[in-house]
Amino acid sequence: MTGYSAAPQVERIAEKLIAAHHQHLATVPIRYVWRDKAAQSKGNIVFGKARKVSGLAAHLVHLVRDDEPPDEVEFFVIEIAADMWPTLTDAQQTALIDHELCHLGVDIPEGGDKDRSLVVRGHDLEEFAAVVGRHGLWRPAVETFHAAVAMQLTLDDIAAPSHGKAKE
Ligand SMILES: [Zn+2]
Repeated sequence: MTGYSAAPQVERIAEKLIAAHHQHLATVPIRYVWRDKAAQSKGNIVFGKARKVSGLAAHLVHLVRDDEPPDEVEFFVIEIAADMWPTLTDAQQTALIDHELCHLGVDIPEGGDKDRSLVVRGHDLEEFAAVVGRHGLWRPAVETFHAAVAMQLTLDDIAAPSHGKAKE
């Protein structure tokens, strides 16, 4: 059976990322847990997963812990595979948590009298490397992704001038 435990190390990194890049999550309840063994999905190792807990499951949690206002029934959970975590560099660990935080969305309905709702968002891009290899930037999502990669490459150039290799 899969075991779970609290992941304060993940929470510390997430708090920094939320302050810098995900301010809309500042007041959203998020739990961070280790999953002792990574799951597999479609043949890939799952390093992390973002979920929303709502409905009966959330109510049951609130029966045993009383640390959120009663109207904050829904909450997010980010689970990280504890067995894969040590295989990642610091930079990869931060990127992984940033990735999971990008899944966490808050919908604020217009009108104002309805509660905000938490939503788990999908990825910007699901694509095969072979298709991009054959057809290039064939749709806007691929183009957007390419632009982000190009921007990152430029940032790397600024951080590491060409006459010296950056230290890892
Ligand atoms: Zn994802």
